Amino acid sequence: MFDNYEIWWVTGAQLLYGGDAVVQVDGHSKQMVAGLNESGNIPVKIVYKGTANSSKEVEEVMLAANNDSKCIGIITWMHTFSPAKMWIKGLQSLKKPLLHFHTQFNQEIPWSTMDMDFMNLNQSAHGDIEFGHICTRMRIPRKVVVGYWKSAEAQKQIAVWARAAAGRADAHDVRCLMFGMNMNNVAVTDGDRVEFEQRLGYHVDYYPVSSLMDYFRKVTDAETDALVEEYKKLYTIKIDESGEQVYWEKVRNSAKAEIAIRRVLKDEGATAFTTNFDDLGGADIDAPDFLGFDQIPGLASQRLMQEGIGFGAEGDWKTACLYRTLWVMNQGLAKGCSFLEDYTLNFDAKQTSSLQSHMLEICPLIASDKPKLEVHFLGIGIRKQQTARLVFTSKTGFGIKATIVDLGNRFRLITSEVDCIEPKPMPKLPVASALWVPQPSFEIGAGAWILAGGTHHSAFSYDITAEYWEDFAEMAGIECISIDKNTTISGFKQQLRNNEVYYMLNKALM
Ligand code: MN
Repeated sequence: MFDNYEIWWVTGAQLLYGGDAVVQVDGHSKQMVAGLNESGNIPVKIVYKGTANSSKEVEEVMLAANNDSKCIGIITWMHTFSPAKMWIKGLQSLKKPLLHFHTQFNQEIPWSTMDMDFMNLNQSAHGDIEFGHICTRMRIPRKVVVGYWKSAEAQKQIAVWARAAAGRADAHDVRCLMFGMNMNNVAVTDGDRVEFEQRLGYHVDYYPVSSLMDYFRKVTDAETDALVEEYKKLYTIKIDESGEQVYWEKVRNSAKAEIAIRRVLKDEGATAFTTNFDDLGGADIDAPDFLGFDQIPGLASQRLMQEGIGFGAEGDWKTACLYRTLWVMNQGLAKGCSFLEDYTLNFDAKQTSSLQSHMLEICPLIASDKPKLEVHFLGIGIRKQQTARLVFTSKTGFGIKATIVDLGNRFRLITSEVDCIEPKPMPKLPVASALWVPQPSFEIGAGAWILAGGTHHSAFSYDITAEYWEDFAEMAGIECISIDKNTTISGFKQQLRNNEVYYMLNKALM
């Protein structure tokens, strides 16, 4: 997916120092872009777009970036001094994410040979500060990365922004289908879908479950058999209390559901979806001609999440969309991501923790072992039945949960650092799960999340830190608050109050 994207690099210069200087600037810029691309640290290709030496040239490249669907963001860097009034019109036009890289072609000062020509050419210290001023004066959202261009640390910060920009570009094209509405009476999974599309790009549509059932009924036995064979290769087959006959009947029902959902998503051009356990087609399962979902299509949700399809349970379209973005940002990273839900607390005398699970829908990307395909009774929703699911334990270690809530006047993205620990065996709970301790402690982390208005559903990753989400929120122009090792409740409450005023004023200004 990153192969479909480009990041443009524009070097700021001017003609004051003569054409020869610009030729040198151009040569240096090419070396730097090649160096970044060859570093292996940045997942999206950077394309050098030349020097911008005038207001007109700046505006032209910004407008071109807006119109190029492959371009997901622009990196600017001032090799020499680049008077910033020449950036005004271009920055007014720019609609793509901006990263300002404060670096320099030359690493160390050549003390014994340095003359005025050298200093005039290598004056990023001067030019980047002028550029920074105009961005701040114009209130341009951007990321500023500071460091030598060959340093892995600086490159990794660019990589974070690049992944966030890819998530942002993808979000623009996300269509999320709600199979049924969101669960009745639940506040946190609801919100303003019009504003959501304006701010974040995600388009959320209702899709009738009756139409999904039309697809379900058309799935052939041969297609179902083929998918069940695939399950047998991928997962450990574990037949318990259901017995062999019911087991395969339920696995086949889940396979059919997966094929049907895949087809609808493909035909509708959708990359995210939600389900609702109260809306599974409505037919009477005891009727002799029953043809429908036996329960929520949990196995399908698990497997589709693994492939990057956004998912939210109980009609949670915000989390479905956010999970999609998380998966995009997370591609190629080591430990994986999942939709999760806060379920049960463990008030352990030494360390309180929170069990993360769901009825069925946890993504196998976070599994630490080979998932087991199991069939058990699930007594929730309109159709209390045995149904298939993947069961596994999750990896341990550092992770981040993220959510978006609708506060009525704006969206707030909340992140929280957690430490995933080993749970004890739960032989009577045959669903995937994770066990975590919010940071800096359960009491502060969970308390801050509640004060921020966080959700019980979240998009969780072991790889994506708060920095990715901050960059993503900056690009979308929404609030972002992070709960981490340094959070205190009093400081956090003050931040919430400050943000309330900031966004109230900001809204009035727009
Ligand atoms: Mn839920």
